[in-house]
Amino acid sequence: MEFRLSAEQKLFKQMVREYCEANIEPRVKEITGEGRIPDEILHGLADLGIFGIMIPEEYGGSAPVGEEMSYANIAIHEIARADMSMSIPVYVLLCLGWGFLISKYGTDELKDEVLAKVAAGDYFVGINTTEPGGGSDVANIKTTGEYKDGNFIINGEKTYISGVTEVMEHREGGHITLVRTDPDAGHKGFTFLHIPGDLPGITPVILEDIGRHGLSTGGFVYKDVKVPEKYVLGEVDRGFYLNMEGFSMARILVSSACVGMAEKALEISRDYVKERELFGRPIAKFEGISFEIAEDHAKLEQLKLYLQYAAWAADKIYTEEDFMSHRELSRIVSICKMEAPMIAEEIARHAMMQLGAFSYTKECKLGEALKGVMSYVVGAEGGHNIQKLIIAREFIGDVAVPYR
Ligand SMILES: Cc1cc2nc3c(=O)[nH]c(=O)nc-3n(C[C@H](O)[C@H](O)[C@H](O)COP(=O)(O)OP(=O)(O)OC[C@H]3O[C@@H](n4cnc5c(N)ncnc54)[C@H](O)[C@@H]3O)c2cc1C
Repeated sequence: MEFRLSAEQKLFKQMVREYCEANIEPRVKEITGEGRIPDEILHGLADLGIFGIMIPEEYGGSAPVGEEMSYANIAIHEIARADMSMSIPVYVLLCLGWGFLISKYGTDELKDEVLAKVAAGDYFVGINTTEPGGGSDVANIKTTGEYKDGNFIINGEKTYISGVTEVMEHREGGHITLVRTDPDAGHKGFTFLHIPGDLPGITPVILEDIGRHGLSTGGFVYKDVKVPEKYVLGEVDRGFYLNMEGFSMARILVSSACVGMAEKALEISRDYVKERELFGRPIAKFEGISFEIAEDHAKLEQLKLYLQYAAWAADKIYTEEDFMSHRELSRIVSICKMEAPMIAEEIARHAMMQLGAFSYTKECKLGEALKGVMSYVVGAEGGHNIQKLIIAREFIGDVAVPYR
């Protein structure tokens, strides 16, 4: 059992922290205002090898084989410390988590087309599952993909999707999309397809979010969009299972973003309570303040360690035969996704209370942090109760699943 980062991982963490503190942290306000992540930041992160972490070496991959998720956890943690609004960490984690699925299940043509660009920070990869009829009930999605002469003809609508302007206007990119290809086969009738943003027949919809303004959220309306079969991931009609596998990878990184943001929020409040004097002494002297920080620190430390374990398990599942099943991994990951946004939200909120009125101004980063993490509290990458359902299914058994 090894609880330390390796020497190489430590070096990587230090390098990412230095880059993010120098190049991201001072620009978050500007990025939030402009609603767009500057290309030079994405290229800077790519130069550190971050967009290549989950990609094979021949396409520009950068992490040691079998340690990809552990490196990704470190990278997203550090980016979220610098951009507490969560825009840049979410942009990067989507590319890493879902880009991984292209690496693993994409056709050679798809991999040749996009992976080197993903590694260079020039191509966004998002996930496109949620529909207006409800995000939690994935098996009920209605968007169809009818096979005809080498293409899937896509009709339907996706909503609350991250990275819409990014793939339609700002740069190249696409979304891995779950569509119904066999109407009579329940969850065995879905296929996962990569849909580039520039295909004819796609109409974007932009939503105005309360936070995370550097990354757009919206949707797509598909009208007879022709998606060549080279864009299918894995086997036709097996998309539901790949979606669940992808969720495991992305939810680890969502948790990394929450933990990185919370770590920084806690440091901000720790520094503040040592300096701020009231009633003739630093407010750190009051147990109402110091005990809350101590409790938050304890919760975050436990979460950090468990998340490191989840990332390690995700690495092992792909490199060690019979290590554990994907269902078992989903239990571990759902524990992280259930806890991380709630703990991070609580820590950001406590930090705001400790900083008092200043925290309610835009000079302070904590307001943006709280709004950013709320995206994961309310449900992005899977609702809170859905994580409980997964944990209950694995711990109690199938009897605890309401839809069976
Ligand atoms: C900022 C943001 C970005 C997003 N980005 C993406 C993206 O890039 N791609 C994408 O596909 N989706 C994205 N989503 C959508 C996200 O995946 C959904 O919000 C999520 O799946 C929940 O779906 P819903 O919002 O429709 O809520 P619903 O499914 O309508 O759920 C409503 C509530 O009921 C609870 N609930 C549902 N079922 C049960 C049950 N059986 N038992 C108990 N409680 C239950 C849920 O936890 C939730 O609290 C994003 C969401 C946000 C907020």
